[in-house]
Amino acid sequence: MGPIFEPKSESEIRQQIIWVSQELRKKNMLASADGNISYRISDERILITPSGLPKSFIKEKDIAVIDINNNILEGKPSSERLMHLEVYKKAPLAKSVVHAHPPRSIAWSIAFPDAKELPIGAMSELILAVGSVPIVSYARPGTVEMGTNLHHYLPGNRVMILARHGALSWGESLIESFCGMERLEHSVEILSAAHQLGTISELDESELSELKKLRKQLGDKTL
Ligand SMILES: [Zn+2]
Repeated sequence: MGPIFEPKSESEIRQQIIWVSQELRKKNMLASADGNISYRISDERILITPSGLPKSFIKEKDIAVIDINNNILEGKPSSERLMHLEVYKKAPLAKSVVHAHPPRSIAWSIAFPDAKELPIGAMSELILAVGSVPIVSYARPGTVEMGTNLHHYLPGNRVMILARHGALSWGESLIESFCGMERLEHSVEILSAAHQLGTISELDESELSELKKLRKQLGDKTL
């Protein structure tokens, strides 16, 4: 099954959530039941992957349904749902949230515990595609803090590292939120390789300000 770029029905959205789950697993961004994917049809109907099931086994009928006030309407939703709901409350444009455990992005937050964001000045692509990538302070999985720690970065940031835990990406479609996760891990792979080879150098100030202007023109979407 391939991706459905513009899902028309709830069943197609469910199929697309399954496609994203499988792609994340193929790309080594999830182990076992890690991670969760959600889609807001409306504030009254938010689809979210189930708790405790390995992502490769999920079927359409396993996907749970909640509302924006955390009422469970169908199934057994992920225990990390408060984080998704925080995004939907603070970012009106958010249609989809992807949370995964990308290894290099997590490793970065472990190796640089004081870093507040990725050194985006090292790569033009990062600035153009996401603007900036904050590293959100650690919160114990499943706690309210997982959601409240995101406050400061919403709705301005669509891609973030969650220190010592994982990453979160939201978008106006499932494809946008999936691509944000892919973009993040690919960029951290490049930054890590540069760090292993030597130092992480940055572009000069004038080039950085040009790139930031260009990003403004491109808009807020993750590219
Ligand atoms: Zn997690």
